[in-house]
Amino acid sequence: MTESTATTRTSRPPLLRAMVPALAAAIALASWWWAPSGDAALMTDRALLGLIEDSDLYTVDVDPAPTVWEHYTIAQGDSLANLWTNQWQLPEAALYTLLNDPKSADILRQVSPGQHLEWRADGEGSLQALRLWTDPSKGWEWNLQNGQLHRSALTYERNLHQVAVRGEIRTSLSAALAEMPSLGGRAQAIAAEMGELLPLASKARKGDRFSLLVDLEYIDDAEGAYAARLAGFDYEGEQISVRAARFDDDRFYTPEGKSLLPGFRRTPFNSEYRVSSPFNLHRHHPITGRVTPHLGTDFAMPVGTRVLAPAKGVVRTVSYHPLAGRFVVIDHGQGYQTRYLHLQKAEVRPGQEVKQGDVIALSGNTGRSTGSHLHYELRLNGRPLNPMTASLPSRERLQPDELRRFQNQYAAYFDLHEQESATAVAGNGNRRDNAG
Ligand SMILES: [Zn+2]
Repeated sequence: MTESTATTRTSRPPLLRAMVPALAAAIALASWWWAPSGDAALMTDRALLGLIEDSDLYTVDVDPAPTVWEHYTIAQGDSLANLWTNQWQLPEAALYTLLNDPKSADILRQVSPGQHLEWRADGEGSLQALRLWTDPSKGWEWNLQNGQLHRSALTYERNLHQVAVRGEIRTSLSAALAEMPSLGGRAQAIAAEMGELLPLASKARKGDRFSLLVDLEYIDDAEGAYAARLAGFDYEGEQISVRAARFDDDRFYTPEGKSLLPGFRRTPFNSEYRVSSPFNLHRHHPITGRVTPHLGTDFAMPVGTRVLAPAKGVVRTVSYHPLAGRFVVIDHGQGYQTRYLHLQKAEVRPGQEVKQGDVIALSGNTGRSTGSHLHYELRLNGRPLNPMTASLPSRERLQPDELRRFQNQYAAYFDLHEQESATAVAGNGNRRDNAG
């Protein structure tokens, strides 16, 4: 792809301005074979795009989340293509890149139930790496950089085992875990996972008791654990009392099947507003042909429209950015985050807890915006999802068949805790189960 070499112009003749949408369309059509030059080069990409309705072709790096590996174990009846686009919301282009390599296509066509997949995507939704474990110590890894694919065999010895740890809070959970050598040096990661699940920062108290079940992955004969994931936990405290385990869908549920994630509304407002620019990871720049992803959904709405929290959460950021304008970021737990750009006014402050439906801001037209609208983003573990189509963590309970499966899977675990914590529970009769 050729990059535009145009320089900035601050004023445009009216005739040219009127011609621009038609010009842009013509260029988009012609860009299959025609390298941009001539009249189009009179304008910068941005100046041209500024005249096309509601185009905000940028992302804002607000305190970017570290990219994490996401996991999935293939189940009976799964289709990779379906999981890829619908469930994981990974870019289709990356799947095509993989399938264009005959050897990779061969490997991926033979994916079968029980095999384990891991992937990592960046803050623009681009796939960086994918691993397929065909058995516990063998598999394939693909790395994608600038559209280039590198495939390698995973041949190292991979040992998985589960450890149970128990303890009591003296200062903090992370301090308590740091003293536990069986966590293979992964105490901080586990404490962070617990922090996503429970409001430990504000509600953990000295004397709170916990037991955790952790999946550890060791490779070759390295000293520390290569990876660690929380599988389940039992937290008995003065202000928090929750027991939960991770289910197939990677989310945590109580033994009764209640989700620890809050209910989610599809959109952060009450009325219907027109989508003026949809989420699109592959949006092509009409002139340069470069992929310029649109990481959120734009809704055309009058300045001053009330923006509502789509789910319970904690306000992470309230700030101003020259492109995004006034913006708000809310964390909802387990890696879910929402972002609101071009606001007129924020009605919340960082650290504030919000409930579903609370007014968090008034929409506006601040920053680089060509008309009053709300740019709304939904992210999971730092990577953008389509807010209009993503499977939202809205189900608050497992369905009966899922609940049976979940309880069978974790029966031993929960029973074990029942026995272990019998003394702790005996005194107060009923135990509470809440999501904090
Ligand atoms: Zn937008």
